[in-house]
Amino acid sequence: MSNALHYRLVRLCLLFLLTLYASTLMGCRTRSFLSTKQEIALGREGARQIEQEYRIDISSNDAERVRRIGARLLPHVDQRDMPYSFKVLESPEINALSLPGGPVYVFRGLIDLLGDEDDDALACVIAHEIGHVNGRHAARQISSQFLTSLVIGFGVPAGANQDLARIASGLLGLHYSRDDELDADRRGLSYAHYAGYDPSGMLRVFEKFEQVERRVGADRSEWLRSHPLNLSRISRAEVVIENKNYRYGK
Ligand SMILES: [Zn+2]
Repeated sequence: MSNALHYRLVRLCLLFLLTLYASTLMGCRTRSFLSTKQEIALGREGARQIEQEYRIDISSNDAERVRRIGARLLPHVDQRDMPYSFKVLESPEINALSLPGGPVYVFRGLIDLLGDEDDDALACVIAHEIGHVNGRHAARQISSQFLTSLVIGFGVPAGANQDLARIASGLLGLHYSRDDELDADRRGLSYAHYAGYDPSGMLRVFEKFEQVERRVGADRSEWLRSHPLNLSRISRAEVVIENKNYRYGK
C-alpha cells in the first residue's frame, strides 16, 4: 500500500471515529466540552470587545440598580463560583446579553423600556441572562460548532488558543435555540423567585416586547431578534409561575 493511500485510509477511519464520537456527544443537545476556565477566558475576551465598542455606564442610578439586582440574584443561581459582573451599556438598543463565565450586560434602551419602577421585571431579564450562563448555552453552541468544523474540515480545531478573539467575537452575535430560551426562562424565573423578586415580572417583560413588536416591528429590538417571543414560550412561563414549578435555585 502506498503511503498516500495508507494516510487516506487512516484519515477516513479517524473521520469515522470522530463522527461517531461527535454524534454520541451531540445526542439531543451537544454537551459543552469547554472547561470552566476556558469559558471564563472566552467571556473575558468577549467582554473586552464589547467594552471597546460601547460606553459603560458605571456611576448612574441604573448602573447601581443593575449591580444590586445581580448581587441579590447570585446566591440563588446554580453555579455560584463564576466571576459574574453586571453592567449597563450606553446604547438605545433594546437588548441584554450574557457571556460564558459571567459577564451580563443590560442596554440602556431596555432599561428605559422597562421603566424605573419595576425591579421585578428587570430582575427577570437579568436572571434570564444568568440562566444562559448557567445552562452553558453559548459554550455548548461553541462545542457544537467546534465538533462540526472538526468533522467536516478535519482541520485545525477552531478552539486553539490563538482563535480566542475570533470565537469571542462570534459570541456577540450568537442566537440561542428555542430550547435554550425556554431553559434560560425556567432558570431565570427560579432565580428571581428565590431571590424574592416576583417572577411574573417576566410576563410584563413579554408584554412590553409585544408592544414594541406591534409598534415598530421585531427588527427594532435586538433582544426580540435573538429571543423570539412566541405563544408557547409565554404560556410555558405562565405555567411555571402558576404551578411554582421551580427546579433551579437554592
Ligand atoms: Zn435568552
